[in-house]
Amino acid sequence: MANLTEAASVYDGFDFYQVDMHFSDKQKALRQEVRDFVEREVIPNINPYWEMAEFPWEIARKIVNLPIIGGPLFEHDAAGLDFVEMGLVMYELGKGDGSISTFYGVHSGLAMGSIGMLGDEEQKARWLPEMVKLEKIGAFGLTEPEVGSNAAQVKTTARKSGDGFVLSGAKRWIGNASISDILIIWARDEDSGDFGGFVIENPGETEGVAIKDIWGKVGKRAVLNADIRLDNVFVPKENRLAYVKRFRDMAQVLGVGRYGVAWEAAGVAAGAFELALKYTKAREQFGKPIAGFQLIQQKLVEMATEVTLMQTLCLQLSHLINRGLLNAGTASMAKYNNARKARYVTQLARECLGGNGIIIENHIARLMLDAEIIYTYEGTNEVNLLLVGRELTGLNAFV
Ligand SMILES: Cc1cc2nc3c(=O)[nH]c(=O)nc-3n(C[C@H](O)[C@H](O)[C@H](O)COP(=O)(O)OP(=O)(O)OC[C@H]3O[C@@H](n4cnc5c(N)ncnc54)[C@H](O)[C@@H]3O)c2cc1C
Repeated sequence: MANLTEAASVYDGFDFYQVDMHFSDKQKALRQEVRDFVEREVIPNINPYWEMAEFPWEIARKIVNLPIIGGPLFEHDAAGLDFVEMGLVMYELGKGDGSISTFYGVHSGLAMGSIGMLGDEEQKARWLPEMVKLEKIGAFGLTEPEVGSNAAQVKTTARKSGDGFVLSGAKRWIGNASISDILIIWARDEDSGDFGGFVIENPGETEGVAIKDIWGKVGKRAVLNADIRLDNVFVPKENRLAYVKRFRDMAQVLGVGRYGVAWEAAGVAAGAFELALKYTKAREQFGKPIAGFQLIQQKLVEMATEVTLMQTLCLQLSHLINRGLLNAGTASMAKYNNARKARYVTQLARECLGGNGIIIENHIARLMLDAEIIYTYEGTNEVNLLLVGRELTGLNAFV
């Protein structure tokens, strides 16, 4: 039996169960590149943006230097990552900052992913090359003021008109919308009842589109989310994504999104835990490091265990998705578990720092509030639970 060594348990990048042994050199090299970027560009610079609720262009535009845009897409110079790599990217970005991981996840995953998975060759050639270079920013408009969890019942309509469609309705919470050049709006065709994805190019300059950022968010403050009004907005017919007719066509994009968010949640939790571990070993009370007290160790062990469970769950999920075996149940179970546990772990981590835990310069409070958003977006915790329940029982408990 191998010796138990501290080196295996605590080193740069917490990995108690040595999940690393499953990653190739190429996967580890990419992870290192993203980790270096996060340590050099994100962590030292993000807090003022978060506090001012300002989008950090200074940081975001440098993502173009990483070979990660487009995630698993490989056409038009997209990154062509395997799903382990995609997961590791979300983990490392999440560990650094939730606003940056969301900016990347919306642009590269939801927007480029919709075009890559559901667009035809002409549409991909038209939009992806500039999106890969971050010359055009993408957004994904599904949620509405009156329709959140019940997303299949969106009220936004598309009416055929001349050589295209006229969109009417409203969207809410749409990430990147106010800085987007490629805004995908999900709507129902008024005549056929079909579900469709409609690309509005340059939405800021399109007649009938009104985009207003939402202020006062207490999490992911450095990424912009907006309310959108669509008042008879004309979209040419060639801007309707070619391979979407039903809600479930689009749901494939959400499934991959939930996979990424499960890794993101694991990263947020790991980031908070690593900071708490370091702090509790250095901070002394009653004449010794607080990490030496049983009650602190209980929190550290809880956090370490949950992070390890999240990592191992993500790893197995990556094997499923790489083999084309991801389904609604497995994607939702990972999102459900990891989002819930990220909330728990970040709160424990914040407790370990006492008063210093609520100061933004120590980063944990930011991660804790970012975890609140992860709990709600890409399907709330309840919605993901119900998706797993439906998979297990064959019975729909949504209504
Ligand atoms: C910061 C942020 C970023 C976001 N980014 C985007 C984006 O880029 N694009 C986009 O389209 N959307 C985005 N969203 C929207 C997000 O997906 C929705 O907030 C989410 O789907 C929930 O919808 P809702 O907020 O309307 O809550 P509601 O659907 O009103 O839910 C309220 C509560 O009721 C519960 N609930 C609802 N139905 C059931 C049920 N059948 N059984 C049990 N409980 C139920 C929910 O779980 C929740 O707890 C974002 C949200 C946030 C907060």
